[in-house]
Amino acid sequence: MQVDHSKNIIEIKDVCFSYRNEEVLKNITLDIHQGDYLGVVGPNGAGKTTLIKLMLGLLPLNCGSIKLFGQDIKDFRDWSKIGYVPQKATNFDVNFPVTVRQVVAMARYAKKGLFHFTNKDDEIIIEKSLKQVEMWEYKDRLIGDLSGGQQQRVFIARAIAGEPEIVFFDEPTSGVDKKTQDEFYTLVKELNEKSGLTIVLVSHDIERITAEAMHIACVDHTLVCHTSSQEFLEESESLNIFGHKIKNIYHHHN
Ligand code: ADP
Repeated sequence: MQVDHSKNIIEIKDVCFSYRNEEVLKNITLDIHQGDYLGVVGPNGAGKTTLIKLMLGLLPLNCGSIKLFGQDIKDFRDWSKIGYVPQKATNFDVNFPVTVRQVVAMARYAKKGLFHFTNKDDEIIIEKSLKQVEMWEYKDRLIGDLSGGQQQRVFIARAIAGEPEIVFFDEPTSGVDKKTQDEFYTLVKELNEKSGLTIVLVSHDIERITAEAMHIACVDHTLVCHTSSQEFLEESESLNIFGHKIKNIYHHHN
């Protein structure tokens, strides 16, 4: 895919959101460019997941606007352009008796509508997606019989099998070991650099995401910073965001 880094694919303008009486986000203005790899950081409860859910149209805006691929989110229908790997993929019951291949095939039904069987083209994409995450040999295994890291790879395959242009990951590496984390970040970088996918990744691991992503957005109910990872790193000595020196946050998470 030809990537145009100057093209805005998501435009968030003056967005705010409250759950009942609790104001969670205010004055969020942020553009995400094609081919970007954006890391979203911030303390627990800062509104990061809420912001992702707003961009996915899963929550209604209270104020402001969001455009997806140039179109107002209220009119946007082409959801197959957007992939989502939720937190530990917990919205999926892994005890449900489906195979790895069937989990990935769901992305194809989502694209074409229910009650469509997969055809040869779908099968090729399912195979390609599973090979990309190195899980093809597990295609006939039940999802519930895999390790957490392997399940995560299958959910990434499901996200990319919809052939999206952008994929959101929410805290993808919490509770997985270092080796699985490393493999995850290698895979995401490959998807970004080789396949031209735009990536938005929420992470609690500031040090790691700064090393991986191109840009960092710091969310603490408002957008506290949005800068290149390089600048973020250079300024991190003096940056005092979230009420802590960045160094303290590193320390805390190590
Ligand atoms: P983060 O992802 O940064 O940890 P969240 O977006 O999950 O933050 O949550 C922001 C705030 O909104 C938290 O105080 C959380 O308790 C609250 N919240 C999240 N989801 C809901 C919900 N469905 N109903 C009510 N409050 C919620």
